[in-house]
Amino acid sequence: MLTDDTYYVSEYFQSIQGEGNYSGVNSLFIRFQHCNLRCSWCDTKYTWNKHSGAYKLFTQTELKEIITGNMGTNVIFTGGEPTLYRLDQLVVSDMKFHVESNGTIIPNQALNIQMEDGSVFSRMAMDEKVISEFNWVISPKLSNSFQEINEEAIAFWANNDWCIFKFIARNRKDLIEINAFADKYAIARKKVFVGIEGTTLASQIKPELVDDIINFGFNFSPRLHVMIWRNVHGK
Ligand code: SF4
Repeated sequence: MLTDDTYYVSEYFQSIQGEGNYSGVNSLFIRFQHCNLRCSWCDTKYTWNKHSGAYKLFTQTELKEIITGNMGTNVIFTGGEPTLYRLDQLVVSDMKFHVESNGTIIPNQALNIQMEDGSVFSRMAMDEKVISEFNWVISPKLSNSFQEINEEAIAFWANNDWCIFKFIARNRKDLIEINAFADKYAIARKKVFVGIEGTTLASQIKPELVDDIINFGFNFSPRLHVMIWRNVHGK
């Protein structure tokens, strides 16, 4: 069983935030191992469990040293699913922290779940005062991921000001689904960022779809890492 002081990390690297409300910002990415979902189109399947890819165990002190040695002032916790871990205990001063989460786990509630590989994640509730200073990027999964929504968790995120919602759309049909989702959970359109699915520069240039994103009242999220590096590992 993992304790509140230890973290499984798949990789960490310096890059730019590719998507969302901090696009282009020079950031240290810390990618955690293990995810509680299995999205059909996931591009980080190597983070899913203890057999899916390489990872290393870090203590809280070791990770904080890496964060302190970061060349910029932005740190992005990603995964896998970062909320499996005590992110509030990794805070150091003068840094802005961001979390990319699938939105199925409420961070200020205690967690105790067993994953399909037998790993047990048990942590105390995160300190709400600390995590409400983070920029949370919540990515609920559309029907094409074949994953269930945790309605309580989505309502939690819809009702606070510390997060944006990020979706990836392939076509207008996906935008209609995102619109219905935003209506159902009363999510303000200003909190919704939509990017375009794909792994090549050409896949990201779809003016008609961006027109639709605008007309639905959403924000457009460029996917800079895809446009520049084609979604490669470590960027
Ligand atoms: S939530 Fe993210 S990391 Fe987990 S399976 Fe889905 S896309 Fe992959």
